Amino acid sequence: MSEHDEQVLARLDTYRAHDAPTHGGRVLSYVYDSGLAELDALAGQAAARVQAVNGLDPTTFPSVALMQADLLVFAREVLHGPPATGGAVTSGGTESIMLAVLAARERWRQTRPGDGRTLRVVAPSTAHAAFHKAAHYLGLEMVTVPVDPRTGTLEADRLAEHLDETTVLAVASAPAYPHGVLDPVAGIAAAAAERGIPCHVDACVGGFVLPWWEGTPPWDLSVPGVTSISADLHKFGYAPKGASVLLVTDPALDRARYYALTDWPGYPVVNPTVLGSRSAMSLAAAWAVVTRLGAQGYAELTAGVAGVTSAVRQVVDGIPGLQVVGEPIGPLLAVGTDPAVPDHVQVDPHAWAQAVAARGFVLQGQPALTQADGTVLARTTHLTLTPASVGVLDELGAALRTGADDVRGQAPRHAAAPADGPTDLPDPVALARAARETGELDLPAVLALIETLPRAQSARLLVDFLAAFTAPPTGRA
Ligand SMILES: *Cc1c(COP(=O)(O)O)cnc(C)c1O
Repeated sequence: MSEHDEQVLARLDTYRAHDAPTHGGRVLSYVYDSGLAELDALAGQAAARVQAVNGLDPTTFPSVALMQADLLVFAREVLHGPPATGGAVTSGGTESIMLAVLAARERWRQTRPGDGRTLRVVAPSTAHAAFHKAAHYLGLEMVTVPVDPRTGTLEADRLAEHLDETTVLAVASAPAYPHGVLDPVAGIAAAAAERGIPCHVDACVGGFVLPWWEGTPPWDLSVPGVTSISADLHKFGYAPKGASVLLVTDPALDRARYYALTDWPGYPVVNPTVLGSRSAMSLAAAWAVVTRLGAQGYAELTAGVAGVTSAVRQVVDGIPGLQVVGEPIGPLLAVGTDPAVPDHVQVDPHAWAQAVAARGFVLQGQPALTQADGTVLARTTHLTLTPASVGVLDELGAALRTGADDVRGQAPRHAAAPADGPTDLPDPVALARAARETGELDLPAVLALIETLPRAQSARLLVDFLAAFTAPPTGRA
C-alpha cells in the first residue's frame, strides 16, 4: 500500500474513532455481533470479491442469482415456506417490508381494476416504523390497532375488527421490536385469510434466531394464512449491514413486487427490488456468513443468546423499581418502571439508560406512546442481547444494577408543553451543533420532548435535527 493510501485510511480511522463500538457487546441495539472475528473476516473477503459487480443484472452477473438462490433456499427451509415460495434478497428490513406492502397493494388493484378507494395496512401499534414509511411512500393509510400496555400485544380478534374490504395487508410481528413480544400470528393470519387478505409476518429481527429458540408458538410460513415474511440477514443472520430476505408464498403476490419498464429508449428494465444498480457486496457477505454458519451454526449461536437473555432478564427482575414489559420471546427486552412499588423505589427507564451509559453500556430509550384508544404504552428502555453479550454478562449485569441504584427515586423527566407554541421549543439546530461538538446528546430530554409534542411537530424537529447534524460544512465565504 502506498503512503498516500495509508493516509487515506488513517483519515478514515480518525472518523471511525467517533463511532460507538460495533463489537464486544457494549451497544445493545443497532449491531448484532456474533462474537466470531473469523466470520467478519470471511464476510469482508466475500464482499471484496464482488466489489465491481452490478447486482442490477443477474443475466450478466449470474453469481448474483446463484448467491440469492442459496440464501432464499436456506431462509425457506428455516422459515418453513412451501416449495413454491419465492422472494428476494433486499438491502434491509425496510426494503423487504416496502416490497411486501407494494406487492399487496398491487395485488389488490389487479383484482379490483378501477376501484379508486383509499387502501389500508392494518397492524398492531407495535409494528415497525417501516410499515408507516411504506404506507407513506405508497399512498396507503396506516391503521394501528392498540395493544394491551401490560402485555405489549393484542388478541387477534381486536385486529380482525379492523380488517375490511379496503385492507391490502394484515401485519403481525415475530417479535415486535419495541418490547420483543410475539403477536398472535396464527389468529391474525387466520382472520386475514378468512377475508382474502394477505398477511405479512415481520420477522426482521426474529427470523434468524426464533427458528432455534425453544418454546416459541408457531409464527412462520408454516402458519396457515401467512403469505409473506421478512427476515433480516443483517440482524441475527450476523451478516454485515445491507441484507434482508423477503419470502412470499403465492407466486402471483410475489410477482407483484417487481417493476418492469419497456416504455423508454434505454435498456429494458426489470427490477425485483427498489434499487436499480446495486452493490453485490452485502449479498456476497451475507451469503458467505450463512453458508459458513448453516443451521447448526445458528443453533449454537442462538443457544448462547438464549442463555444470556434469560440471565439478563433475571438481573432486571431482581432490580427494585424496574420491570420487563410483557412476556418477550427472543433476545429483545423492554424495561419500564414498576408502578407497583412506592415512588422512592421507582426507576425511570430513561434516567436508568443514561446511568448505564455512564458505566459503559449503551441501551436504547423508547418514548411513551398514546394509542388510538387513549391507552398509553409507557416509556421504556430497550435491550437487544447478542452472542457478544455472553462475554460481558457480569459487567453488564453490574452496570444494570448499579445504574438503577444511581437514579432510583428520582422524579422522571418530562418536557414542559410549549406554552407559546413553537417559539418555546429547544432549537434543533443548536442541539445538533452541540451534539456534533461535544459528541454528547441529552437523549432523555429529546425523548421527553417527543412524548410531549404533537407527533407531526416532533417528527419535524427530528428532521431539522438530523439535517443539521449531518449537514456538510458551508463553503468558504
Ligand atoms: C429492524 C427491524 C425492521 C427494519 O429493518 P431495517 O433493516 O432497519 O430497515 C423492521 N421490523 C423489525 C421488527 C425490526 O426489528
